[in-house]
Amino acid sequence: NTFAEIDLGDALNQNIQRCKYVKPTPVQRYAIPISLSGRDLMACAQTGSGKTAAFCFPIISGIMREQYNQRPRVARTAFPLALILSPTRELSCQIHDEAKKFSYQTGVKVVVAYGGAPITQQLRELERGVDILVATPGRLVDLLERARVSLQMIRYLALDEADRMLDMGFEPQIRKIVEQMDMPPPGIRQTLLFSATFPKEIQRLASDFLSSYVFLAV
Ligand code: AMP
Repeated sequence: NTFAEIDLGDALNQNIQRCKYVKPTPVQRYAIPISLSGRDLMACAQTGSGKTAAFCFPIISGIMREQYNQRPRVARTAFPLALILSPTRELSCQIHDEAKKFSYQTGVKVVVAYGGAPITQQLRELERGVDILVATPGRLVDLLERARVSLQMIRYLALDEADRMLDMGFEPQIRKIVEQMDMPPPGIRQTLLFSATFPKEIQRLASDFLSSYVFLAV
């Protein structure tokens, strides 16, 4: 019933306290335990529901818990462990700001990349190492084509406002991105799909990207 009762790891639990989150919102209450159990998830969540924390907490917690020593951390090609896709620069920056607060002193590094802005600064950030990459689909495809990001090590994929991404015409880019994660050797990926609405196109995305997922509508 409170975040203190959910063991997300000491550093993350402290950050949650610092953010003055005490009780999980309804979507967090169900999405967090499902995600921590390792299941794929398709969740119905509106803006303001607390969905950002619902996918950030399990991802940060999971990365904190595991050792990924074999991964080149600082390199020309970045190897993020988690990818959060969002439709716009504004939303990506909001997610980045929140994720940074949540990952304070956890050792988990969050970087954001979005279109409509010079790529140079983003490349510099990526070179310094990244665990969680927050990105808009178009800019990420650009980074993949330049071989400045590899998705070979992705353990967690979150799609935020998936319906809006499709409305904006990002489906080809999203499919291209997920295809890269599915290239051999296939990694173990957990996928969390968040959408305000569930038209046919979103259901198709879910059945293509998720495996035996839990459907959550709160
Ligand atoms: P979101 O739906 O993720 O955009 O979150 C909406 C707002 O609610 C943000 O300002 C969050 O910081 C805040 N928020 C999210 N979860 C909680 C919580 N459990 N307790 C208090 N505030 C929260």
